[in-house]
Amino acid sequence: MQYIEDVMATSDRVVAKAKKMTEEDLNCNQKGVTKQNKVSRWGPNHAGAKELAGLYTKGKRTQEVTCVYTCLFLAIFNIFQLVYHFSIENWAAPFAAALFGIVVADFLSGFVHWSADSWGSIELPILGQNFIRPFREHHIDPTAITRHDYIETNGDNCMMAIPLLAWQAFTFCVYTDERIRELYSWECFLFLLCIFITLTNQIHKWSHTYFGLPPWVEVLQKWHVILPKQHHRIHHVSPHETYFCITTGWLNGPLEFLKFWSRAEWLLEKLTGHKPRSDDLKWAKKTN
Ligand SMILES: [Zn+2]
Ligand SMILES: [Zn+2]
Repeated sequence: MQYIEDVMATSDRVVAKAKKMTEEDLNCNQKGVTKQNKVSRWGPNHAGAKELAGLYTKGKRTQEVTCVYTCLFLAIFNIFQLVYHFSIENWAAPFAAALFGIVVADFLSGFVHWSADSWGSIELPILGQNFIRPFREHHIDPTAITRHDYIETNGDNCMMAIPLLAWQAFTFCVYTDERIRELYSWECFLFLLCIFITLTNQIHKWSHTYFGLPPWVEVLQKWHVILPKQHHRIHHVSPHETYFCITTGWLNGPLEFLKFWSRAEWLLEKLTGHKPRSDDLKWAKKTN
């Protein structure tokens, strides 16, 4: 009971911090700046945001299109296998798998997001321009994601699910029917975990979308089944050091209470000598 109260208290403190932000200034970057440079401190007019948006290449687009269609093909193949091997004694498996799948996906979303926000730089070969760039852009222009189409929003998440879905498709091809039924709960978990991973950035995009959302999405946000808008704004308080989970955000309160991310950063800084978010800060400060 005390644990839950402590989690709530920590969470309330961070929420209070986020509530001080205006709707148009997600990063609180406008405080104390002159009227003249207000225009370019964040958003599409930010010099760094413009440069980062310009680094979205045709090659990157091709990778995203390939990943979305490969992921879709594997997911369709695997769902047919799961339906084919369903038996009534396994009726509870999809429900338990959905719950575990969404919690694990939430943690993984936080881990990948934290890693990309806090470490590495755009200069890193291959990884930097293709996979770290969108995270840098998102902090200085949080509205850019709302202008991205389905492919740009979901391509990289689909890429992360492909190895797991491919492994699952392979096992469906080589395992006997008895073996698949024995492993049915695990297979449901693996499949739904992949589905939640692929949905994560779409859910994240919805948390930044203030107009035209389907009513069922707004209901899911209101009930905190998926990442709510107000909840995600806490992450957008500069210097973006907490609330990294973006599938449901269910783990953000407990991880904040455990100081999970700050402890991991302390350890990594001791081991490597690198300061977290130094590249992120560099891009935020870009003025030309
Ligand atoms: Zn972030
Ligand atoms: Zn965001």
